[in-house]
Amino acid sequence: MFSVNKVREDFPILKREVHGKPLVYFDNAATSQTPKVVIDTIVDYYSNYNANIHRGVHTLSQEATDKYEEARIKIQKHFNAKEAYEIILTSGTTHAINMVASGFESLLQKGDELIVSALEHHSNIVPWQMLCEKTGAILQVIPMTQEGALDMKTFYELLSDKTKLVFCNHVSNALGTINPIEEIIAAAHNVNAAVLIDGAQATPHIKPDVQALDVDFYVASAHKLCGPTGVGLLYGKQEWLEKLPPYQGGGEMIATVSFKKTTYAGLPHKFEAGTPNICGGIAFGAAIDYMNSIGFKEIAAYENELLTYATTKLEKIEGLKIYGTSASKTAVISFNVAAIHPYDIGAILDKLGIAVRTGHHCAQPIMDYYQIPGTVRASFSFYNTKEEIDVFVAALEKAVGMLS
Ligand SMILES: *Cc1c(COP(=O)(O)O)cnc(C)c1O
Repeated sequence: MFSVNKVREDFPILKREVHGKPLVYFDNAATSQTPKVVIDTIVDYYSNYNANIHRGVHTLSQEATDKYEEARIKIQKHFNAKEAYEIILTSGTTHAINMVASGFESLLQKGDELIVSALEHHSNIVPWQMLCEKTGAILQVIPMTQEGALDMKTFYELLSDKTKLVFCNHVSNALGTINPIEEIIAAAHNVNAAVLIDGAQATPHIKPDVQALDVDFYVASAHKLCGPTGVGLLYGKQEWLEKLPPYQGGGEMIATVSFKKTTYAGLPHKFEAGTPNICGGIAFGAAIDYMNSIGFKEIAAYENELLTYATTKLEKIEGLKIYGTSASKTAVISFNVAAIHPYDIGAILDKLGIAVRTGHHCAQPIMDYYQIPGTVRASFSFYNTKEEIDVFVAALEKAVGMLS
């Protein structure tokens, strides 16, 4: 049985105060908080077996290597990848997308078409624009609708045998919309295009099955699902990872090096040049174990309850407009109140102990579509409570009163 009070005990930070008030942390879409088991894993690594991995003959190095590779297997099982070597550990979502974009440079020709969605985070836009500049490929955009969903009719019109790649987020970080990725993947495969799904915002709420999805690339960051910053994953189908050239040259990614010819290591090492975030990778595995011990069904059901509760309360505030009203969304509420600047609301909420994000949320095209500078974004996690939402709504009413 899911118990939020029990879960909150796992997160030391939830006991702190901000400006003399109990912390209300509603910035989970930017980064999640860290449970004690993950913090303990980090302390244990640096206290007991800190060493470089893979090449060491000594005990500490072997222990670190075993734990790191165990973490890779935990991640493989969680995402249901066929092989552990299809999981490349990266520094995060941004790094993973750049790896794929850079790898496609040698596979594209002038006039090839790439399709992006209007709902993307900048990290799933800019690397592709850079790739198009280098290759002469053309970037096309699936437009969005007022509800903050994708205009699928236009997507089908954009698809053709010129389409080489489609990339889209699983869940929008700015609006919370859950995109119909199954449909997008199937349609793209119909024209033999590859698909990359940005799962950074989905993975805290949904357990994706990459084989069932038949997705070519799936990327995510540990720090949004209770893990540390600076680590994430690139899942790639074996055939694609073999086709793409290595991203960086260096140690760890080679088989043999001579000045005549260097040969590359096999997967996953081909994409893991240099000393990785060893502790981060191991802690990522611990975070996945922790999330699964709570249960993704339980997490989604509870967060949905929070979303409905907060939406109903917020809609009663005069002049408040919610952006992103798709029927299918995670517990993210992006909003503005009348003409008040989101930053001013955020600053007053902070004084009252409440952490929300304000601004464009690294998704300027969405803000341009709505013709607004940004929004206030409250994003909930399974360790938040209805009482916190009550505190937030009362504080928001106070802020609005002061600012209007
Ligand atoms: C957070 C986020 C990213 C970027 O993740 P990093 O950890 O900063 O690399 C990309 N896409 C979406 C949808 C996100 O929510």
